[in-house]
Amino acid sequence: MKIVMLGAPGAGKGTQAKMIVEKYQIPQISTGDIFRANIKNGTELGKKAKTYMDQGALVPDELVVDLVVDRLAKDDCANGYVLDGFPRTIPQAEALTAALAAQGDKLDYAIDVEVPDENIVNRMSGRRACVNCGGTYHIVYNPTKVEGICDACGGKLILRDDDKPETVQHRLTVYHEQTQPLIDYYNGQGILKEVDGTQDMADVFADIVKVLG
Ligand code: ADP
Ligand code: AMP
Repeated sequence: MKIVMLGAPGAGKGTQAKMIVEKYQIPQISTGDIFRANIKNGTELGKKAKTYMDQGALVPDELVVDLVVDRLAKDDCANGYVLDGFPRTIPQAEALTAALAAQGDKLDYAIDVEVPDENIVNRMSGRRACVNCGGTYHIVYNPTKVEGICDACGGKLILRDDDKPETVQHRLTVYHEQTQPLIDYYNGQGILKEVDGTQDMADVFADIVKVLG
């Protein structure tokens, strides 16, 4: 099963992708997580990506596409994967379609998690991310057992720099301009499935399971 998660920043793509991983035993591939790991490890890619991420801008397509195509060639992707945060532009989506087509392959589902902009700033300002494993929580909607400490690995939780309200506003503008057109793109391919992302996490997931079977 090859799945792409669509939706605004903070819509719950990562949260739902993790639930898909558990139930369907396929890997989650999050380009945001890959960039953050590169930043943490001080790689050249991390240094380049950081300048864009800090501003709430997108990392240029040429730094993203090959990275993902290489990742999809790994053994653990043989039975499928859930892409979270990629593609984010039409050129990225076209490059993915072409890379898959070259192997006689294609995506199965594009799941759009719909959340209006009014809810997003609240979601993002309450999001807390683990510096160690990338686990994501929310101070109100999905709190950890011990405040500030990751349930999964005991790592420290932080508010991401790009989740501060002034950056979130810009990320939303970028989303509407560059990423939202992917909804029409995948609708045209006949694989778009829309779910109401304003529901409780478990209800959003139940709707996704109805789609995936
Ligand atoms: P994305 O991957 O789309 O950027 P996340 O999955 O990280 O979004 O979710 C953004 C924030 O909203 C996180 O703090 C998460 O815990 C919270 N969240 C996710 N889904 C829901 C939901 N259905 N209801 C309330 N809060 C949610
Ligand atoms: P995310 O963790 O998905 O919210 O991504 C955080 C940031 O990483 C984004 O605001 C972008 O700067 C960058 N990023 C992640 N994925 C992509 C992508 N597919 N294309 C361009 N930039 C990306």
